[in-house]
Amino acid sequence: MSLDIIVFPCLSDNYGFLLHCTETGQTACVDTPDAAEISKQVEARGWGLDYILNTHHHPDHTGGNKALKRKYGAQVIGPKAEQDRIPQLDTALSEGETFTLGNCLAQIWDTPAHTAGHISYYFQDDSAIFVGDTLFALGCGRLFEGTPAQMWAAMARYKALPHETQVYCAHEYTLSNARFAETIETDNSALHDYIKTAKAKRADNLPTVPTTIGAEISANPFMRTDQNGVASAVDMVGAPPSDILGEVRRRKDNF
Ligand code: ZN
Ligand code: FE
Repeated sequence: MSLDIIVFPCLSDNYGFLLHCTETGQTACVDTPDAAEISKQVEARGWGLDYILNTHHHPDHTGGNKALKRKYGAQVIGPKAEQDRIPQLDTALSEGETFTLGNCLAQIWDTPAHTAGHISYYFQDDSAIFVGDTLFALGCGRLFEGTPAQMWAAMARYKALPHETQVYCAHEYTLSNARFAETIETDNSALHDYIKTAKAKRADNLPTVPTTIGAEISANPFMRTDQNGVASAVDMVGAPPSDILGEVRRRKDNF
């Protein structure tokens, strides 16, 4: 394990992430919600910034690209399918390609749904995945540019990862997601335990990110649309999980 990961709040509810290869000293940030805060975190550790890893084109994920690239000479990596929408992009990557930070390798996954070209960065040897706005603790991203079927395909793929995999979501939405999740699976005891822990963390002003794949499988309604409890909650027993996800997402949008 040679990847250090630093999590820090940015803007009103985003997270910034710094990735540091301890063997080579190379450093990356995932998305650029706030250039000033990212600079502060980099400099507090005496690091540089070699790469910016964008997950998707939204301004709260790419807004600091220009300033950070200018300040540190960082190379900007981002999704090929959004290459015209990522400011200052140097290298466009897509499904099946890899990115290397020092000695740490990430697989690129196409996980479209929130946006048309959204990608995830999976560091298998370090048991960490950066999911941007696709998967949230107890939630999933809004379907701005994609379909329920695409979101379900992403969920199904995340679900197949080892349960201990650390999931780095780009926003602190957990307690508001929890209020909705409780209305879907009223008697899921794993969900109740999860919410208790999350409330305690937030009361201490601690992040609920990262979460784990195992925790999301047990409690996140969007990961569980193939389960009877979620299907019956929306009166769709027997329907495809992707259709059920569409309905749960629609309800969340109106919650
Ligand atoms: Zn977004
Ligand atoms: Fe976002």
